[in-house]
Amino acid sequence: MRYEPTLDFAKAQDAADPLRAYRDRFHFPSLGTRELVYFTGHSLGLQPKTVRAAVELELDEWAQYGVEGHFQSTNPWYSYHELLTPPMAAIVGAKESEVVCMNSLTTNLHLLFVSFYRPEKTRYKIISEAKMFPSDRYLLETQVRFHGFDPDDAIVEVAPREGEKLIREDDILAAIEANADELALVFFGGVNYFTGQLFSMPRLTQAAHAVGAIAGFDLAHAAGNVPLSLHEWDVDFAAWCSYKYLNSSPGNVGAIFVHERHGQNLELPRFGGWWGHDKASRFQMKNGFQPMAGAEGWQLSNAPILGMAAMKASLEVFAEAGMPALRAKSEQLTGYLEYTVGLLADEFPDADIKMITPSDPNQRGCQISIDVVGRERKLFDDMIAAGVIADFREPCVIRMAPVPLYNSFEDVFTFGKVMRELLA
Ligand SMILES: *Cc1c(COP(=O)(O)O)cnc(C)c1O
Repeated sequence: MRYEPTLDFAKAQDAADPLRAYRDRFHFPSLGTRELVYFTGHSLGLQPKTVRAAVELELDEWAQYGVEGHFQSTNPWYSYHELLTPPMAAIVGAKESEVVCMNSLTTNLHLLFVSFYRPEKTRYKIISEAKMFPSDRYLLETQVRFHGFDPDDAIVEVAPREGEKLIREDDILAAIEANADELALVFFGGVNYFTGQLFSMPRLTQAAHAVGAIAGFDLAHAAGNVPLSLHEWDVDFAAWCSYKYLNSSPGNVGAIFVHERHGQNLELPRFGGWWGHDKASRFQMKNGFQPMAGAEGWQLSNAPILGMAAMKASLEVFAEAGMPALRAKSEQLTGYLEYTVGLLADEFPDADIKMITPSDPNQRGCQISIDVVGRERKLFDDMIAAGVIADFREPCVIRMAPVPLYNSFEDVFTFGKVMRELLA
């Protein structure tokens, strides 16, 4: 696609965008009277306008039915989570039996590690990325210690090479090879939250399996952002949250993937709760945990309906738009932001603007992270004051997500205009 740095071009692209109507289906935050450019879908997705009615329905039916709502309500609470499974499985490329929505992300990862990180004397290492999201790092450290190993020894971090910002996949494969006999688990973010780098999950999975290790992924920044085929890629397990690209409300319920070859193995060790117990005998309240087959066998508790109502409304939007159409627009829109950043870098050499995110669309989703040398927080605060909301990380990295569901080419144009004024 050939880009142009004009408002006319941006408006023409928006007019031709088959997904343009979706923007109106979200609430945009405002600062005073002005509508913002919202590039923070990587942290908290915007609220679909259908969420309020979906939550109110459950509030009304709770008022009307009390406990009978478990069976009498429009969408019976007893099986409510099952309504979320088909659209969620479609988003991550899984069979329905391989996915369930439950708990929150870090909680779910710990539960999955109970089943999938079972280190032995000589096979205990985890290969992961350097500078991963802190919660994931704490997960690894505490899991490793829980099993009596030393994080400094057991966690092998693959880092970018000296002077580089991105991790080379060949270096990950080399680390897997070098630790082949001691490797228990390869655990990566599908998309790195900081750089926006998308890793080749099929390649890493294959490499892990080749040395007898398990492959698991944190898809917080991948689910709803990039095309995923977890089943086909033979990934062992994954977990993700629903409040970033999946727009399902702050801190809402997450989801897990367990490949069917593990899900059907009822002998696999796990922590149990009544909601993961065989449905037919759940209410007999007897001793003896019998897990359900599939990902549902990892559930612990009955489902939080108000949050799930918001999630249901949001996932309906995804089901309607479809990941292929979202991805097609995402590539163009992210390309336009990259182009705009490139122009700014040329115009303002003193600002030394560098893009951290890979240039190759196959190695990224809808995120562009830029490093603006020596500008520190002031530039970012000025951006917010001028109506562009992005994310800032020390020392001066700005992370932006032009989200295909609700961002426009005009948003990207406006960002360029605002930055031009601030950098001048
Ligand atoms: C957002 C995010 C989290 C947050 O975890 P919660 O348990 O939902 O608070 C964890 N890991 C990664 C990689 C994330 O991007």
